[in-house]
Amino acid sequence: MSACPAAEAIDMGELHYEIDAGKCLECGACAAQCPAEAIVQE
Ligand code: SF4
Repeated sequence: MSACPAAEAIDMGELHYEIDAGKCLECGACAAQCPAEAIVQE
């Protein structure tokens, strides 16, 4: 969440973080910082 430049694009869901595609700028900053490589851009 701290790496994301888009306001409120990433929220903490019940089971995992969730990305709102409508707010995401597709910058890739979160994917670059994810240690589990769990974020994949499509
Ligand atoms: S790619 Fe990730 S860091 Fe960039 S705007 Fe979208 S959710 Fe935020």
